[in-house]
Amino acid sequence: MTELVQIDPGLKPAGVGELPPLPAAVGRRSEPSRSRGRRFARRGQDSSQAVRSAFQLIFLVLNAWIGIQFFLWVLHWESGGRTVAVSRPPGVEGWLPIASLMNLKAWVLTGQLPAIHPAGVFLLVAFLAMSLVFRKSFCGWLCPIGTVSETLAGAGQALLGRNLALPRWADVALRSLKYVLLGLFLYAVGGMSVAAIRQFLDGPYGIVADVKMLNFFRYPSLTALVVMGVLVVLSLLVRHFWCRYLCPYGALMGLASWLSPAAIRRVPAKCIDCGKCSRVCPSRLPVDRLVTVRSPECIGCYQCVAACPAAGALDMRLGRRLVLSPAWFGAGVAVIFLGLVLAARLSGHWHTDLPDQVYRELVPIADRFSHP
Ligand code: SF4
Ligand code: SF4
Repeated sequence: MTELVQIDPGLKPAGVGELPPLPAAVGRRSEPSRSRGRRFARRGQDSSQAVRSAFQLIFLVLNAWIGIQFFLWVLHWESGGRTVAVSRPPGVEGWLPIASLMNLKAWVLTGQLPAIHPAGVFLLVAFLAMSLVFRKSFCGWLCPIGTVSETLAGAGQALLGRNLALPRWADVALRSLKYVLLGLFLYAVGGMSVAAIRQFLDGPYGIVADVKMLNFFRYPSLTALVVMGVLVVLSLLVRHFWCRYLCPYGALMGLASWLSPAAIRRVPAKCIDCGKCSRVCPSRLPVDRLVTVRSPECIGCYQCVAACPAAGALDMRLGRRLVLSPAWFGAGVAVIFLGLVLAARLSGHWHTDLPDQVYRELVPIADRFSHP
């Protein structure tokens, strides 16, 4: 149901003068439409954030479950088989992005899927495919770190009354950091031959890379604790601090999302220039000045759409015309994710099949292996 509302032409929309400096963003710009003083149809009830939160919660719980199962699996081998025996959850390989990138390169060059950590490759391909079709939906809808980051920002806002917006020069400089980090990883992986990748990943270090990652969090060094503490504080103060400035995985998804046919589109003729879309955008994109939001920073979160009061002014669209409801957007993300997991399972490339003897020997001494 829509409701017709009359805008007072003399009334400046609340908060417009308080907009933070907006970053340059990729997309088609338009001059603000002169639609104030015109009647507009009010948008109906929005369910996008409820749908998105459900996805975020499910993925957070799934990752917590994977983490607990993996921890029990590690304990089993560390205790010499005296604790409960559980299977190794292949989903843990989603937390090995560099190994997955190496395996992906080897797969592309040889046509051979890896025997060790194959699930990680399928997960990386699934997240890249999502980004290619549905923008950086992995970051906005699935990534547990993104969800925690968003929660911390909400807590910061509740505690302090607002989140900080860094000045534009600092924001732009810091945003480039994640691309620099991604560039370093791509350079390192790009320089490795297939033989070097296989030697790295099929050796003891590669086999227990997931165990070493778990141990990093189980037995953090003082430096790691300080860094994590600083990141938590910064995430309370600045929205999506980690995702926005430091996450190379998000940077990779953002680059892939440049090709996405899905994008937020504004219809200037229906826009009432209230600026609400820009003010709520966690990526600080100037949505109210663009026609199409093509920025690799857009995480497809629909928060701008949810905030927009004018029916038909702002939507996520596939191509120019097809409006993508949050439910269809989420369904598309789920189909890509579940489809690739199913493909991996059915083709027998989901589990790392190593004899128990290998884990019995390597897991208890995982920390002795260093980078080859
Ligand atoms: S609020 Fe809109 S423009 Fe901003 S990141 Fe979310 S979907 Fe993209
Ligand atoms: S929230 Fe909607 S009406 Fe307001 S500026 Fe953005 S697109 Fe226009």
